[in-house]
Amino acid sequence: MIKLIDPFARPISYLRVSVTDRCDFRCTYCMAEHMQFLPKKDLLTLEELDRLCSTFIRLGVEKLRITGGEPLVRRDIMTFFKTIARHLDTGALKELTLTTNGSQLARFAGELAAIGIRRVNVSLDTLDAAKFQAITRWGRLPQVLEGIEAARKSGLRVKINTVALKGFNEEELFPLLDWCASEDHDLTFIEVMPMGEMGEEMRLDQYWPLKDLRARLAERFTLTDLAERSGGPARYVRIEETGQKVGFITPLTHNFCESCNRVRVTCTGELFMCLGQEDNADLRAPLRASPEDTLLEQAIRAAISRKPKGHDFDYSRQSVKGQMSRHMSHTGG
Ligand code: SAM
Ligand code: SF4
Repeated sequence: MIKLIDPFARPISYLRVSVTDRCDFRCTYCMAEHMQFLPKKDLLTLEELDRLCSTFIRLGVEKLRITGGEPLVRRDIMTFFKTIARHLDTGALKELTLTTNGSQLARFAGELAAIGIRRVNVSLDTLDAAKFQAITRWGRLPQVLEGIEAARKSGLRVKINTVALKGFNEEELFPLLDWCASEDHDLTFIEVMPMGEMGEEMRLDQYWPLKDLRARLAERFTLTDLAERSGGPARYVRIEETGQKVGFITPLTHNFCESCNRVRVTCTGELFMCLGQEDNADLRAPLRASPEDTLLEQAIRAAISRKPKGHDFDYSRQSVKGQMSRHMSHTGG
């Protein structure tokens, strides 16, 4: 079986799959308060998701991240996790993970750990209950903290993902860092990206460049750049005083495209070869056209052969260029 390699000689080994566009939160930078969700018939069924992921694994994907929307609100999602975990047992899949808002982790952490998941990414932008409610609109901080605790007790390693938002969580940089150190969670900051239809003005208002965040950290701590990459776009530093590892995902100020090994599939089966480009391939039609995977495989190979070199996001000159009309919950962050 010839593995997937794109035109720039990058092997495609990392797949992120969104299993739903729905969510029990309405984070302001991600969704509008009143979202029109997709009709259920448009979504890939759990069986279709399994066929799709298994085909990618056959073609060389070794790391699979499940995301959304909120993946743990999809009905019966544990059935999907349990069946796809067979590829961990064979060794074809090296890692199965998910990105979650944490709201359902208290219910599912034990089962997730039992099927071989070792790490989860939990999105958490603030430790202040009122601010948490303001930014997520519908979320409750205690429920998420309980979920994170359940994950830890089940033996799952937790990575906290925090979107850096100017005027919102700037003051929480050190409290968040201290909390992660005391709870032994990894921490990664994400620069806010221009997704969805939120006004341009609001984006620029929210934009807190991670180089500024890093400079704030460096005022208090000694930072050492680490060469290590997690197979994703994050760059890491070690805080010498605490030994903590902190990640930065800077899609806008740092060009990580040259080593991009990943592609994304939406919950309707659109394959996006780049998060920052509109070009995509429909995988639902070949999935539904035949019970065999030949058409699906052809469609995947054809799409990978046009994976672009990079994205065009640009916040320079005070206007948002390369803005995407898709919401993050659509492509799966
Ligand atoms: N619901 C899950 C969660 O919140 O972790 C998974 C899906 S969510 C779309 C995935 C990640 O995208 C989260 O860490 C979230 O903070 C991030 N995200 C959403 N909108 C974003 C934006 N406009 N810019 C940067 N990150 C964003
Ligand atoms: Fe839901 Fe995650 Fe988007 Fe927040 S960031 S609205 S939790 S999908």
